[in-house]
Parts: sequence; C-alpha cells; structure tokens
Amino acid sequence: MLVIGGCRIVTPGELIEYGWLRVRGEQIAETGIGAFEGDLDVDLAGHTIVPGFVDQHCHGGGRNSFITTDPGEAFRAAQLHLAHGTTSIMASLVTGTFDDLANQIRTLVPLVDQDVIFGIHLEGPWISGKFHGAHDPALVRPPTRREVGELLAIGDGRIAMVTLAPELPGAIAAIKQIVRADAVAAVGHTDASYDETRRAIDAGARVGTHVMNAMRAMRHRDPGPVVALLEDPRVTIEAICDGHHVHPAVLRLMFAEAGSGRIAMVTDAMAAAGAEDGSYQLGDLRVEVIDGVARIFGTDTIAGSTLTLDAAVRFMVLVGKVSLQAAIRSVSTTPAEAMGLEDRGSIEVGKRADLAVLGPDLRVRSVMVRGEWVESFDV
Ligand SMILES: [Zn+2]
Repeated sequence: MLVIGGCRIVTPGELIEYGWLRVRGEQIAETGIGAFEGDLDVDLAGHTIVPGFVDQHCHGGGRNSFITTDPGEAFRAAQLHLAHGTTSIMASLVTGTFDDLANQIRTLVPLVDQDVIFGIHLEGPWISGKFHGAHDPALVRPPTRREVGELLAIGDGRIAMVTLAPELPGAIAAIKQIVRADAVAAVGHTDASYDETRRAIDAGARVGTHVMNAMRAMRHRDPGPVVALLEDPRVTIEAICDGHHVHPAVLRLMFAEAGSGRIAMVTDAMAAAGAEDGSYQLGDLRVEVIDGVARIFGTDTIAGSTLTLDAAVRFMVLVGKVSLQAAIRSVSTTPAEAMGLEDRGSIEVGKRADLAVLGPDLRVRSVMVRGEWVESFDV
C-alpha cells in the first residue's frame, strides 16, 4: 500500500488541484481531494500526477527500432518511451516482404506476452502506392485473404491493429477479416474517397492513422478520408502533434471537431526519438534526421517523427491551446479505449496504477508501472 499526492491529479472527471491517491498492489485503490489524513508515502508537492501514456503508433526510439528481429532492440525502444511517461506502447511495423514481416512479428510476439509492448501494428503493406509516405513503394500491395490470414495467424492474437487503404481491391473484405481476428482496422496511407472511407468504417474500421498525413487531402467538393474519419463518432483520430507533421491551426481544428475523447495523440516515432540527429534506417529506407525532423534521404518526405508523448502534451498545451486535461486524455484514456485496454488509461479506482509524475514544466519526473516506480530506465 502506497499513498502519494499533495499535488495536482488529472482524473477523467476533473482536474484535482490538490489531492492524493492510494495504490494497492498493481491498482489504484482510492483517490481523494484535499489533504490526506495521515502521512503521505511520497509527497509530490508542485507536481502533477497523470495516467501513464498509451502510444498506439510507434516505430522506435533511442536509436532502436521495433522493425527488427532482435528482441533486445525492441525492448530498448520501449524503454526510451517509458522514460518519457509511455507505460503502454504499440510496436508498429512498416511495409515489407511477407518473410520480413513474418520474422518481425515472430520477434515481437513474446514481448507482448512479457508486457513490454501491448500489441503489434501492421502499418503496411496493404496501403496506397500514391500515399506510401516512408514505406517502400515497390512493396505496397492490395490485401489478399491469404496474406492477411497468414500474418494474423503468425501474430496469434498479438496483432492489435492493421492500417490499410480502403480503395484497394479486397480491402473491405480484409477489414472484416481483421475485425473478426479481434484486431483494430485503421484507415490510412490512402487515396480513398469520402464514400470509400465511409464503407470502410461501416465494415468495421475504427481508427484513422495519422489523420491528415499520408492521405488524400480535403477539398471543398472532395472531402476524402479526412472528413469521413473526423465526422464519424465511431472513429478514433490519430494525430502527430509535433508541429512538423500538421500545422498547429489544423490540429486545433481537429480537436475542435473530434474532441479529446476521439483524438489519440501518437508519436509515429522512429529510432531517432530521444536520440541525436544523423542517419537512421526505417525498415529498408535510409532516413536523415536534421533538427529533429526525419526525412527519407534526399527527399522532402517526412519519415516518422522524433516525438515522445510528453513532448506532444507540452506542444498541445503551449501551442495547440488545448487544456492540460484534454491533452492528457488524448495520450492516455482515448488511445486505451481505442485499443480495448480497459484495465488502464485513467486515474480511477480499479485501474492499473500506471502513472507519470510531471514537473511544473510538464517534463516527466518519475513513472510508475503496475504500482511499482520504474527505478532505472536503462536507455
Ligand atoms: Zn507510422
């Protein structure tokens, strides 16, 4: 049993200016407003306790990538983001050959079972050749019942999300196949029309992958995937809030339309997150990072971010002008709900005691996972 507080706490219902919470075992057992009657185990005066962040779209960090056949490398990538408050992380793969994807999935499956990552995300290969972004255009392809089935089978329940382009032949059937396998179908890297996107949502798609990026743009007579995704209450909207991927004014528009209850801030981070500028690999492609912006070598194409979710929160509070409570919801509760992680994502009695403690500058001071302080980040 542990009582922490004497500080601000962000809960789903309200922002408690001065309160405390009790942790018993792996769970939050009680929360209270005002001074705790008795001695606090940890006095966090001047700090803010928030739920641990949930990143549903991430490729790596700290010079390490989830796109690997080395489980140690994937572990270190997760540790980098843990140090920045992300207590639940998805390992996102990119477009590759069947054999490469199969080997990467086999590498990551045990890490799901060890709770290092909460799931595997296939961002390709069933995406648009026109909006491939930082995916190898030579390898993108339409989904076939067989390939989708074989990769899902290798994942054996650990593939949590699949991004695809609904306009591709076979995509609507693939969405139904993905949903039947208990994975989330996401619309992204797509040239779909408004109507094609609506059909995808009606078939079961529930997430828009980094909405605005790598998809057909919104036009006044061609609303495209952007409007279809933003206006549908069934869909969770991924947003990369680093100030490079989407203009802050457009991010404000997205928050105004969908709200923090439907916007999941994601990093889409690659290996350079939390590391220095220089040359990196994203899958088979060479990426150059200059001033924290990752681009495919020799092009203007942005190739993932160098973001961590604590930085995304700071950006949206300071530049995006959303409230701290809304920003926190978008990095914790909303993605947890979108990913079906019902046991975590908010500071509520009975939820997992996955917490981040922020300083007055909104930087992460300490992190708790399942009721235990993370002593060493080892990055
Ligand atoms: Zn990505």
